[in-house]
Amino acid sequence: MRLTLMPLDSVPAPLVKKVAARLRRIVPWTIKTSPPLTCQLGGKQQGQVDAREVLLLLPEGERHNVLTVGITDDDLMVPGLDFVYGHAMPERRTGVVSLHRLQSVSGPPAARQKALLERACKEVLHEAGHVLDLVHCQDFTCVMHYSQTLHDTDAKRCAFCPKCLIDLSRMPENADRSR
Ligand SMILES: [Zn+2]
Ligand SMILES: [Zn+2]
Repeated sequence: MRLTLMPLDSVPAPLVKKVAARLRRIVPWTIKTSPPLTCQLGGKQQGQVDAREVLLLLPEGERHNVLTVGITDDDLMVPGLDFVYGHAMPERRTGVVSLHRLQSVSGPPAARQKALLERACKEVLHEAGHVLDLVHCQDFTCVMHYSQTLHDTDAKRCAFCPKCLIDLSRMPENADRSR
């Protein structure tokens, strides 16, 4: 599996590199970071951006085991949901995560930064899971559990549960890691 993390617009590259470093310790994938991509979709739609518009700007995975997850500061929505922490288009092998609602509003800066990093890691892994056709998991400690609030995000671990790991191992892209 090759996962590329792409900072969008003003998202700081060092944060994205930290997310990549943390995820490398969790999943046996090749995880790279890319140069930033300028989308500049914010400002339309009452300050929110349709996550699907962002996903269409990301490079499409040329193979089934090549994924890209963009990380944006913009507040994302999709029709039918007031906001989303992230969204995925499995058919394009792309996902996007928003940092907008992952920030803590109180606490010392170091603690806030740590919480943001941990939440970003969980949401990136969650969207990567969707790109790999995983569905939401009932296990509230599993990274594929649906986050309705930050409480849900904080309650889950930055890891797939045993059931989701089995589902992942059955997918065609895991059959041949050398591709
Ligand atoms: Zn989800
Ligand atoms: Zn699970």
